[in-house]
Amino acid sequence: MSRLLVIGCGGVASVAIQKCCQNSEVFTELCIASRTKEKCDALKSKLEGKTNTKIETARVDADNVEELVDLIKAYQPAAVLNVALPYQDLTIMDACLKAGVDYIDTANYEPENTDDPQWRAIYEKRCKELGFTAYFDYSWQWDYKKRFEQAGLTALLGTGFDPGVTSVFSAYALKHYFDEIHTIDILDCNGGDHGYPFATNFNPEINLREVSANGSYWEDGRWVETKPMEFKSKYNFPEVGEKDMYLLHHEEIESLAKNIPGVKRIRFFMTFGQSYLTHMKCLENVGMLSTSPISFNGQEIVPIQFLKALLPDPASLGPRTVGKTNIGCIFTGIKDGKEKTIYIYNVCDHQECFKEVGSQAISYTTGVPAMIGSMMVVTGQWKKPGVFNVEEFDPDPYMDALNQWGLPWVVCEDPETVTVWRQE
Ligand code: NDP
Repeated sequence: MSRLLVIGCGGVASVAIQKCCQNSEVFTELCIASRTKEKCDALKSKLEGKTNTKIETARVDADNVEELVDLIKAYQPAAVLNVALPYQDLTIMDACLKAGVDYIDTANYEPENTDDPQWRAIYEKRCKELGFTAYFDYSWQWDYKKRFEQAGLTALLGTGFDPGVTSVFSAYALKHYFDEIHTIDILDCNGGDHGYPFATNFNPEINLREVSANGSYWEDGRWVETKPMEFKSKYNFPEVGEKDMYLLHHEEIESLAKNIPGVKRIRFFMTFGQSYLTHMKCLENVGMLSTSPISFNGQEIVPIQFLKALLPDPASLGPRTVGKTNIGCIFTGIKDGKEKTIYIYNVCDHQECFKEVGSQAISYTTGVPAMIGSMMVVTGQWKKPGVFNVEEFDPDPYMDALNQWGLPWVVCEDPETVTVWRQE
């Protein structure tokens, strides 16, 4: 029925592509295009004979708009799924506009070089105006709204798990459980153990930047910024158990604050073990998380990229990770004049994911929603001209698809709520 061009062939892409191939009635043809074509060819060989989806591969530099446009025009897909890195969001959106196809991604734009003076000037103005200092925000991609509207094309932003499923949970809670949502606590728990003293579950550059940055939350119409890991909590996660968690800035807070009318507070928490935090602090203190190039033995290296080369490849964690993830949202608000609290969550088992697609649950919980978001767009269920976050569409078909494609969810009425305290 439709052709999809997937850009990137890393951990998330591998799952998204395998799920598209399971769903070959919708995705009849697929092109996997990435910087390293050998990885695309290896995935194609793994899948051929096991799917009715016809697979092609290509090499593409997604930083280069003209190369992308040539590829899109040659392959003529119904849409492009961007599961490369957030650095490539804008070039891929530009190419989709030029070539006239719909665009889908899982993470908002952030620049590769945060020292770029042109980017920095805009960033510093935004920090002052909005009051949060994360390197990523939606302004860059929301700025494409008029251009996508005029071209009659859809751009669907952030269809991973968080952002993505957590945002769809919010739209679903508003549609079926509340007249008004007052607070949203997004809880991202990874109860998995890979046995390494230190490793990241997805791209180390993106992951470490996110975790070492200042936290922030939305309250009463404005951002409140915190120091990294300033607010701590403990939560007893269904099917996982009690875990420490910390308040972080996260991108869906920005879009939910805009799209959930009347919401008073939105916070995001992620679980971390003490060993992870101690390693990260040490790496940060010695400068290994820096994105600014340094000269070493006559060669220019970016410390965090060098660190990435030393750390285990997230894609290699699958066979050794045991345990479960639990990601979801606790909502409070009003229904029929009465106060109400619900918790919608998904539990995903690392080893079950590995048996099915050869990846651990972090890639799985992002790759499945990337396929589902693409399905929503190419089947026309979520299609209108402009740039949209997932919570702006009808959540029901997406929620049904989560149950069907491997991420079943639970609605718990009257759950434990979150209590936070400030760390020394
Ligand atoms: P990986 O690093 O595993 O994969 C990235 C892929 O992109 C690699 O195949 C890489 O190629 C390719 N790539 C990088 N630069 C270019 C380029 N210039 N041109 C073409 N291809 C390129 O990352 P993940 O799979 O872990 O993450 C993919 C995306 O998913 C990221 O944007 C991440 O932020 C997002 N994500 C979203 C989550 C959510 O819940 N919303 C959760 C986790 C991740 P090569 O193989 O040559 O390196």
